[in-house]
Amino acid sequence: MKEYDVVILGSGIAGMTAAIYLKRADLNICVIENDTPGGELNKIWKVGNYPGYESIDGPTLAYNIFNQVSELGVEYIYDNIDSIDTTNNIINIKDNKLKYKYLLVATGRRPRGLGIENEDKLIGKGISYCALCDGNLYKDRDVVIVGGGNTALNDAIYLSNICNKVTIVHRSNEYNGERSTIEKTYKDNIDRYMNANLVKYNLKNDEIVSVTLDNKKEIPCSGVFLAVGSIPNSELLDVDKNHGYIKVDNNYKTSIDNIYAVGDVIDKKIYQLTTASGDATIAACNIIDKLK
Ligand SMILES: Cc1cc2nc3c(=O)[nH]c(=O)nc-3n(C[C@H](O)[C@H](O)[C@H](O)COP(=O)(O)OP(=O)(O)OC[C@H]3O[C@@H](n4cnc5c(N)ncnc54)[C@H](O)[C@@H]3O)c2cc1C
Repeated sequence: MKEYDVVILGSGIAGMTAAIYLKRADLNICVIENDTPGGELNKIWKVGNYPGYESIDGPTLAYNIFNQVSELGVEYIYDNIDSIDTTNNIINIKDNKLKYKYLLVATGRRPRGLGIENEDKLIGKGISYCALCDGNLYKDRDVVIVGGGNTALNDAIYLSNICNKVTIVHRSNEYNGERSTIEKTYKDNIDRYMNANLVKYNLKNDEIVSVTLDNKKEIPCSGVFLAVGSIPNSELLDVDKNHGYIKVDNNYKTSIDNIYAVGDVIDKKIYQLTTASGDATIAACNIIDKLK
C-alpha cells in the first residue's frame, strides 16, 4: 500500500494551491482528481478579480496553475474514490489502497438541477450547467437561463454574444448579482421573466423546443442553462457539516483531527477563487507545521 504525508482530494484552485505549498515543503503528497484539473475555473469565461490579471479566462488560469503544480512534480491520480476509512486513514480506489497521514478535502461543489421531468436525460443534450463549455453548441439559436445570481447573469451576457436570443428566468423579483453585472444584461437580445419558475421542458424528437413557466408562458428555445445553486461534494466523508458543507475551524481542520477541508466544499460566506486559495494556504501551512 502506498503511503503519503498528505493526500489532496480535488484539483481545483484550492487543491492545487495546497499542492504547491505542501510539495514545496518537501512533503510526500498526491492529488486525486475524478474529472478535469481546474474544477470550476474551467467554467469561467472571464475572471476580473484575480490579483495579477486585469482579465483572464478561467481555463487559461487553470492551465497556468496546473503547469506550476506539474513542474513541482506533484503526483496525480485520476480516478473515482470508492470510500474513505477515516479510522485507519485509508482511501479505497477500486482494488487499490492509499494511506495518508493527513487528508485535505478540496472537492468543491456541483450545480443543482430543478428536479423536473426529463431533466436527467437532457443534461448535456439540451440542458447545460456551463455557458463557457457549451455555449457554442447554441450559436445563433435561442436559449433560456434559469437563475438570478452572478453566474446566471454572467452566463446571459456571455451567451448573448453567441446566441440569437437569451431569456433569463428568475424566481424572485430582483437579481442577487452585482449591480454592474445586472446592468450589462440590459441588451436588445436579452429578455427576462421575473417571479417565474421553469416547470416543463417541451421536447420534439427528444430535443428541447421550448420551456413552459409557471405563469403558463411558453418560451421557444433550443437549450437551457441552469444556474440555480450548488451541492457540496462532501458525501465521501462523515464529518460535521451544515447542509452538506463541511464545517471547519480557523485552521480549516474538520471535526476529525487529521482531515482538513478548503474551498467551495466548506461552510463559509464568500465562495471565490481568492478565498479558496487562501483557505488552502492556511490549511497547508498548518499541516506543514504539524508534520515538521
Ligand atoms: C460560472 C462561475 C463563475 C465564477 N466566477 C468567478 C469569478 O469571476 N471570480 C471568482 O473569484 N470566483 C468565481 N467563481 C467561483 C470560483 O470558481 C470558485 O469559488 C472556486 O473555483 C472554487 O475552487 P475549489 O477548488 O474549492 O473547487 P472546484 O473548482 O469546484 O474544484 C473541485 C475539484 O474537485 C474535484 N472533485 C470533486 N469531487 C471529487 C472526488 N470525489 N474525488 C476527486 N476529485 C473530486 C472536481 O472535479 C474539481 O476539479 C465562479 C464560479 C462559477 C461556477
